[in-house]
Amino acid sequence: MAVIAFIGLGNMGSGMAANLIKAGHTVRAFDLNKDAVALLEQKGATPATDLRNAVTDADVVVTMLPAGQHVRGVYLDDGGVLELAKPDAILIDCSTIDVDSARAVADKASAAGFAFVDAPVSGGVAAAEGGTLTFMVGGPEEAFAKAEPILSNMGKAVIRAGDAGAGQAAKICNNMLLGIHMIGTCEAMNLALKLGLDPQNFYDIASQASGQSWSLTSYCPVPGPVPAAPSNRDYVPGFAAPMMLKDLNLAMQTSKSAGVNIPMGEKAQTIYDAFVDQGGEAMDFSGVIKWLAGEMK
Ligand code: NAD
Repeated sequence: MAVIAFIGLGNMGSGMAANLIKAGHTVRAFDLNKDAVALLEQKGATPATDLRNAVTDADVVVTMLPAGQHVRGVYLDDGGVLELAKPDAILIDCSTIDVDSARAVADKASAAGFAFVDAPVSGGVAAAEGGTLTFMVGGPEEAFAKAEPILSNMGKAVIRAGDAGAGQAAKICNNMLLGIHMIGTCEAMNLALKLGLDPQNFYDIASQASGQSWSLTSYCPVPGPVPAAPSNRDYVPGFAAPMMLKDLNLAMQTSKSAGVNIPMGEKAQTIYDAFVDQGGEAMDFSGVIKWLAGEMK
């Protein structure tokens, strides 16, 4: 069993770290938010007072942070992970960030002799808690082989996408699809309700017909059909709308540099931008159903 420093105990990181504890590892938990650290201490983690306290002599470092600037800071700043980690530590970043930041951290980590992978996740908070995430991993084969047994404690699938940054590339494409699906699911639900259909009845039909998607069956944007979905908790995240907007912005940036046309992705970015700007900032991304219904403009 390993000593694992877990950095970033938010909506996703808290459940993931708890599963590492359940698997028998010693987890040293650190977050800038002391309440998040205290919550994980109750689940059996060793609380860390700062990054140094968490990372020094740990066998593995896992980070689950909001965006590229946080990841670059935590790994590359003076007093960051690359300075603090022991030479044979395995470094795993599970955050969703831009490919350039992922490659910049990977390059510096491998120059310093570390095994580093980018390993963003798909599945949401329920999957983070249930240990059923899908990991898409970028990095050299040898680093993947070292990270895979750790990631398996938190997920149902661990798939190598290619070299450094490839995990983030897969994640950006996946989440562009998710944003488009969610908007489509919300539009269909809003129309179904206006046409007099019962939401549960339409759910029962669409979930067993060709309109089926994860946005419908795991994250249904109307309350009722999927009890674990944020729609039943007044759209408290879950997967916060600004995080979806971040991912769609990453898709836009990446598509421009790759010269690929993504008209639906662009439209989804415009809709989430307006939703976040007009009251959706603290809501789950499925709350866009309210913006689409004209309840927030
Ligand atoms: P969150 O905002 O709930 O959690 C991030 C945590 O990182 C916070 O607790 C914050 O205090 C902490 N943090 C920020 N900077 C830090 C630093 N320098 N040192 C220590 N802690 C720091 O976000 P989340 O929803 O858990 O998402 C985390 C990542 O996972 C994001 O990149 C997101 O895009 C991705 N993701 C989220 C979901 C989801 O459903 N929420 C699903 C898949 C992927």
